[in-house]
Amino acid sequence: MRRVAKIQVLPDKLVNLIAAGEVIERPASVVKELVENSLDAGACRITIETAGGGRDFIRVTDDGCGIPKAELSLAVKRHATSKLQSVEQLWRISTLGFRGEALASISEVAHVELASKTPDSDVGWALRVSGGRQEGLEPSGLPQGTQVTVEDLFFNTPARAKYLGKQSGENRQIIKTVQDLALANPAVAFRLVVEGELRLSTPGDGSYLSAAGSIFGPEFAKKLITVSYQGEFGSIIGWVGVPGHYGSNRQGQVFAINGRVFRHTPFTYVVESVFKGRLPVRRFPVFMLNIQIDAAGVDVNVHPTKQEVKFRHE
Ligand code: ADP
Ligand code: MG
Repeated sequence: MRRVAKIQVLPDKLVNLIAAGEVIERPASVVKELVENSLDAGACRITIETAGGGRDFIRVTDDGCGIPKAELSLAVKRHATSKLQSVEQLWRISTLGFRGEALASISEVAHVELASKTPDSDVGWALRVSGGRQEGLEPSGLPQGTQVTVEDLFFNTPARAKYLGKQSGENRQIIKTVQDLALANPAVAFRLVVEGELRLSTPGDGSYLSAAGSIFGPEFAKKLITVSYQGEFGSIIGWVGVPGHYGSNRQGQVFAINGRVFRHTPFTYVVESVFKGRLPVRRFPVFMLNIQIDAAGVDVNVHPTKQEVKFRHE
């Protein structure tokens, strides 16, 4: 067969669009990345607002450490991060982010405003970026923390936009994403407003059960058993539903590792095997289990959106 063209290094623009496609698949991916940044920033309160299924509008506001004015334009550059300094650190990541790709990817495929104020600055600053182009830096009245506003997601990648589902479907994924993060991080007060309606609000009091109660209702929380296990490897904390309290699918199951929500089928089967014979057929236990181990025992650098991890001693 004859080849159609010579080998050539891809232009930056194309590299950026391809990389953005890996990290940002849909509006819920934007929400996940922004909320994880807020968690890494040590926020106590995180507010998420979305409209138009997240395609028209996503805003995440936190009261975390903020980004200094001088670093705002770096924050939206690819492979620019404050979370990784050395190769050794890569093997013991204790933050949710570390690749320095999320803000760059989001800014590549949307209109973004990144506003932030650090404690040692009198005013906040807002940087606007659109389709990968930085468009200006202006003072902002933001109190302490960071606010990222994302509009017109995939405006310049219509092929990606075509794969999005109906607004209601995208909203379901946004809600599930925030729910899981809120369940796994009960010390943070979350608020989620979707299409103008308050869909979720947690107190941020540190209790896994009260986070579950405020999301699923007090009746749900009454049927949960607290899990608190200390082992040689670390600990497991969270809750499981009593055997009479189950789901018709696996939506009510959340695993986290050091606060990072992840999927891991072998672990799912382990928990389900414990419930075997206690639940009706094709019914699934509900649980939220946060595994806490030394960061060196888990490799989080195996998946572009970090939804899967590898354990050294599985
Ligand atoms: P990563 O999280 O992998 O470092 P991001 O592109 O998500 O990459 O963010 C780039 C950098 O911007 C972060 O390393 C952090 O320093 C800063 N940053 C992003 N979001 C926030 C936030 N909400 N609060 C404080 N700093 C932030
Ligand atoms: Mg990040």
